[in-house]
Amino acid sequence: MALPLEALLDTLSARIIAAAEELTALDSAIGDADHGLNMKRGFEAVLAEKPAILAKPPGEALKTVGMTLVMKVGGASGPLYGTLFMTLGKELPDDPAPADAARALAAAVAVVKARGKSDVGCKTMLDVLGPLADHLASGAASFASVRALAAERAQATVPMKATRGRASFLGERSIGHMDPGARSSQLMIETVCDVLEGRL
Ligand code: ADP
Ligand code: MG
Repeated sequence: MALPLEALLDTLSARIIAAAEELTALDSAIGDADHGLNMKRGFEAVLAEKPAILAKPPGEALKTVGMTLVMKVGGASGPLYGTLFMTLGKELPDDPAPADAARALAAAVAVVKARGKSDVGCKTMLDVLGPLADHLASGAASFASVRALAAERAQATVPMKATRGRASFLGERSIGHMDPGARSSQLMIETVCDVLEGRL
C-alpha cells in the first residue's frame, strides 16, 4: 500500500503539537519539562518543510523527516526519534506490505536501542516501540491490537524505575509516573493507525 505521507505528516504534527502540554507535564515529573516543547518544535519544522519533503520519493521523504527531527527536537528524544524515522525511510519499500512494515520497524528499533544504549525495560520510548516491533513481527497484528498494545505498554512504564535518560537520575523517585517518550510513541502509533485505517 502506498503510504499516505501527507496525511501522516499532517496528522502526526497536529496531534503532537496538540499534546505538547501533556508531554511536557509528564516530563516535568521525571525530567526537565521540555519533551512536549521539543516535539512541538520538531513537528512544526516538519510542517514547514512539508512541500520539500513531499516532493521526494517516500523513503527519502521519511529520511528527511528524521533529519529534521534530529536537528529540531533536540534533547535525548530528537536523535532517537530522528534515527527511527531515518531508518524507516531506509528500510521501507515504496509500497510496503505488512511484512515490510514489521521488518522496517524491527530494524529501526534496533538502531534506536544501539544509539540510546538502551533496551526494553529501562522506562523509555523503547518500552512501547520494542513490543510493537515484536507484535508486528508476529504477523497477528490488527489496528485494534496495535492501539491496545501501545496504550498498555505506555501505561506499563508507570511502575517502572528508569535506568536510562534523565529520569534515571531520580532512581526510585521515577517510579509512579508515565515516561514522556513512551507516551509520545503511543500517540504517534495511534495516529498512524488512525490515518492508515482511514478513520479521520
Ligand atoms: P531530554 O531527556 O534530553 O530532556 P526529552 O525530554 O525530549 O529529552 O525526551 C525524553 C524521553 O526520551 C524520555 O522520556 C525517554 O522516553 C527518551 N529517552 C531518553 N533517553 C533514552 C535512551 N537512552 N534510550 C531510549 N529512549 C530514551
Ligand atoms: Mg526532557
